[in-house]
Amino acid sequence: MSSRPSKVFYQFKLILLGDSGVGKSSLLSRYMDEEFVPNHPCTVNADFKIKAMLIDEFSSVQMTIWDTCGQERYRAITRGYFKDAHGIILVYDVADKRSFSDLDIWLEEIKKNTVKEDISIILVGNKIDLKYRNINTEEAENFAKENNLMYCETSCKEGRNIEMAFDMITKDIIKKQNNKNVIENKDNNVKVVKEREIKREKEVSCC
Ligand code: GDP
Repeated sequence: MSSRPSKVFYQFKLILLGDSGVGKSSLLSRYMDEEFVPNHPCTVNADFKIKAMLIDEFSSVQMTIWDTCGQERYRAITRGYFKDAHGIILVYDVADKRSFSDLDIWLEEIKKNTVKEDISIILVGNKIDLKYRNINTEEAENFAKENNLMYCETSCKEGRNIEMAFDMITKDIIKKQNNKNVIENKDNNVKVVKEREIKREKEVSCC
């Protein structure tokens, strides 16, 4: 028997949810490309990017991050992306009350389409660079606590806390998913924590 410690390769699916205009595409651009594109073209249906990360000497992650469209008319399509997700980044805009009150609708959608205990969810209050905010940190933190969500505030414009938001959810997914779906490859001494099926539907941007 080999005395080498096993290496673990995680494959996860993460989805960005929230109303249109809250900054989901901007979060993804900031995280992946370290850039902020003012007036980002809106995502129609969904788009995805893949990020590879080294966690430590023994484990690495490949994360497929789906950016979905928050518009109501696309919600039925967005539901398709819940399937097999390991984590959800639920975004609202700290200056936009509607995007905060709509969180109840998004949480209902999550409840209907996932097994909540198996999925990691972080609530992200974006656009904290704006001078006037309509939702204060305390109110959002209380909402997150009541709904058992992690919480973080970001600014894509100023590049604040983006890495932290993705780190928090990645660590939580690893904690939740550890020892689940593990396929052991004895020859290479590598364990693969499998991403479940991915539907490769990359859509064009418009507007
Ligand atoms: P999505 O529809 O949720 O994907 O939102 P977008 O990423 O397309 O962003 C909607 C608008 O908000 C765009 O004009 C962005 O430039 C802007 N935006 C995104 N993040 C921030 C932020 O942190 N601060 C400010 N001031 N504007 C932002």
